[in-house]
Amino acid sequence: MILQTPYYLIDERALLGNLKKIEYLRKNSGAKTVLALKCFSTPAVFSLMSKYMDGTTSSSLYEAKLGAEMFGKETHAFSVAYSKEDIDGLKKISDKIIFNSASQLKRFYKDVKNLKVGLRINPSVSYSHFDLADPSRKYSRLGVFDVKEAMSALNKIDGVMFHYNCENEDFAAFSKMLDFISKKYEKVLQKINWVSLGGGISFTKDGYPLARFCAKLKEFSQKFNVQVYLEPGEAAVTKCCELATTVLDVVKNEKNIAIVDASTEAHTLDLLIYRERAKLNEKKGSNEYIIAGRSCLAGDVFGTYKIARKLKVGSKIRFSDAAGYTMVKKNWFNGVKMPSIAVKRLNGKIELVRQFDYKDFVKSLS
Ligand SMILES: *Cc1c(COP(=O)(O)O)cnc(C)c1O
Repeated sequence: MILQTPYYLIDERALLGNLKKIEYLRKNSGAKTVLALKCFSTPAVFSLMSKYMDGTTSSSLYEAKLGAEMFGKETHAFSVAYSKEDIDGLKKISDKIIFNSASQLKRFYKDVKNLKVGLRINPSVSYSHFDLADPSRKYSRLGVFDVKEAMSALNKIDGVMFHYNCENEDFAAFSKMLDFISKKYEKVLQKINWVSLGGGISFTKDGYPLARFCAKLKEFSQKFNVQVYLEPGEAAVTKCCELATTVLDVVKNEKNIAIVDASTEAHTLDLLIYRERAKLNEKKGSNEYIIAGRSCLAGDVFGTYKIARKLKVGSKIRFSDAAGYTMVKKNWFNGVKMPSIAVKRLNGKIELVRQFDYKDFVKSLS
């Protein structure tokens, strides 16, 4: 099948590689894993993912609904702040509702006390390369900081959630922080049934000491007699998707600049926000190009690369790792054609799942 660029192509075989590691983790640590939908919410591959994961976790009513309807299994709800309408919707579809503050727990407890209720605790330690994504940054509003406040919620809650990592590849750092949490919250952990350690751990990455990670989780779970949950987003979908584009023009301003039929601000916004270079699926060489997007934003640049071939109008450019935090953020900035969504199934067949057109653009704003 010849697909028209731009399109996101999710490769189920690559996805399966991550899912097999998740399966290993569940088996060897006893931890359950719920997909963090805020990172990735493409239902076209949920039937594969739900075979290897225990359900989903969410950041809003709509995400929770998506998880309940399209993924199935356990549906965890979390939100930085719920409205009454959220709670009314969520209590019908969620297995667990996790509150971000003692005041929200107090306000809505009577509505949800028949469900498993959790509280987010902020351990004041974290691992993140970016202040923007650091849960324990100064003045953070994410979770309850005060140990006494957490203690006084114990008569209402069944579990707690700590989310304090972001792209943490360092097992020693993870391990040290878990020991710190075990000590600081010993009295809380002894009284509850489940603990979610959140997401942000790069445990599916090549070279990550997965067996030691499993042993650490198992030890923690046995010490406090709790069911451990992990909430992987990025780790579940890393390296399984590419954004395919076509060069529309090559211009020169000191350096050669190839302009493709996509845009960073519209189609890989996460890279722009975190000022990261897009990863390119390309042989390295001596031809230097700035690869740029077609929006009118001056800094709409995917990156500068030295590649083996020469680019010309019509050349295909494929950016890799375009699933997590990328597809969920695509938007209609500049009215640039939104990339289609395609899936390469386990049997090798490519399926075009969704195309977007002018009507979708108009409908997104009126
Ligand atoms: C973002 C987030 C996750 C997923 O994080 P990843 O880095 O994608 O694994 C999990 N839990 C919570 C509470 C989050 O905010």
